[in-house]
Amino acid sequence: MAERKTKYCSNCGEEIDVRAKICVKCGVEQAPLLEKVSSIWYLLPFWFMIIGGIIAWFVNKDRDPKKARNFLIFGAIWSVIVGIIYVLFIVVLITAISSTTCPSCYP
Ligand SMILES: [Zn+2]
Repeated sequence: MAERKTKYCSNCGEEIDVRAKICVKCGVEQAPLLEKVSSIWYLLPFWFMIIGGIIAWFVNKDRDPKKARNFLIFGAIWSVIVGIIYVLFIVVLITAISSTTCPSCYP
C-alpha cells in the first residue's frame, strides 16, 4: 500500500508532488522537505526531563525545528510537573511521619 506522496504549497496551499521544487500553480519555490522526526524522541525529555529535552532539541533542531522546540517545551513543563509532585510527596511524607509518631515517644 503506497502512501500518497504529496505536500502542500507553502505559498498557495495547492496540493503538489512531494518532490516538486516549484509549485505548479503559483511557481513559488518550495522549502526543502523536512525530515520526519519520530515522536519517540519524547521519551528523552520524559525520562531525563529538561536535560533530555535539550538533547532532543539539539539533535532534531535542523531536521524539524518546530518539533524539536516541542521536545524542549515538553521537557521544561515535565520538569516543573515532576518538581511539584516531588515537593508534594515530601510534604505528604513529612506530614504523615509527624502525625503518626506516637505521643509517648515524646519526652
Ligand atoms: Zn503554490
